[in-house]
Amino acid sequence: MIDTETSPMLTPSEVVEHIWCPRFTYFMNVLMIPQFEDRRYKVLKGREIHKRREKENRDYLRKKLGVVNKEQAVYLASPKVRVRGIVDEVLFLDDGTMAPLDFKYTEYQERAFRTHAIQVTLYGLLIEEVYQAEVIRGYVAYIRGGSKVVEVPLSDEIREATGQILDEMFSIIHTGKLPRKTANRNHCIDCCYKNICV
Ligand code: SF4
Repeated sequence: MIDTETSPMLTPSEVVEHIWCPRFTYFMNVLMIPQFEDRRYKVLKGREIHKRREKENRDYLRKKLGVVNKEQAVYLASPKVRVRGIVDEVLFLDDGTMAPLDFKYTEYQERAFRTHAIQVTLYGLLIEEVYQAEVIRGYVAYIRGGSKVVEVPLSDEIREATGQILDEMFSIIHTGKLPRKTANRNHCIDCCYKNICV
């Protein structure tokens, strides 16, 4: 049996942080300096999302996407994929494939979509491994501003890009080498690491 606590696996959230700035991987996973987080805010936000989801997650989604069954808040882990995390929904579709559905408590924004697509791809790769099922697409549901569901085809391109990000993250962790700064220096303005990031 795989020990999912000790096998080296990253979470989709860590991957998102890395896309934001590769140095987050260095500060969090090499130097082990956690980010400052307002936990109370997170808990409240989580509760609110749950309430919203119950309202938004109606039958139309089931029909629109061809969902025949689903599992909610599923913990998935795979040392082969090198990722572990909780996916909002695992969908069983009427074409015999499976798909992840990830909820975002935001409005759809094109510039953030690539990151969300990478995230849902990670869940898709996990579903393939854990359920030994075919996954050809994932979905991101934006629940603010009118519940928009966007399909993410799990193309070779996005699978490769996702693998490259994981390779880069593990390379930082294994070598302990300080990576490049984010290309978008606006990200530094409110960064919790800015005082130690030289
Ligand atoms: S200060 Fe900028 S470069 Fe440094 S970790 Fe933060 S976002 Fe990245």
